[in-house]
Amino acid sequence: MTLAQLQALIERMYSSKDRARGSARTFLWLAEEVGELASAVAADDPDELAGEFADVLAWLATLANVTGVDLTAAMDKYATGCPGCGQLVCRCSEKD
Ligand SMILES: [Mg+2]
Ligand SMILES: [Zn+2]
Repeated sequence: MTLAQLQALIERMYSSKDRARGSARTFLWLAEEVGELASAVAADDPDELAGEFADVLAWLATLANVTGVDLTAAMDKYATGCPGCGQLVCRCSEKD
């Protein structure tokens, strides 16, 4: 599944509820799912981990849809290299 397909799928499944909820409350749901991902990382359970990654990605796509962001276009920022140093293999030192 591509990012565009993900956004289209999420749009089809949830768009009417998502638009009614709005961006601020959608962000809170995303934040809750990031918390669940943190717990799954701590628990080190592969099945739970995969499920929580999916939840975070789905809510990220939801938030992108609600705010009108095209994730494929947004990722152009990374297509030619690290946004910090411009290299394909990052040479930035501040995120080691
Ligand atoms: Mg979850
Ligand atoms: Zn870099």
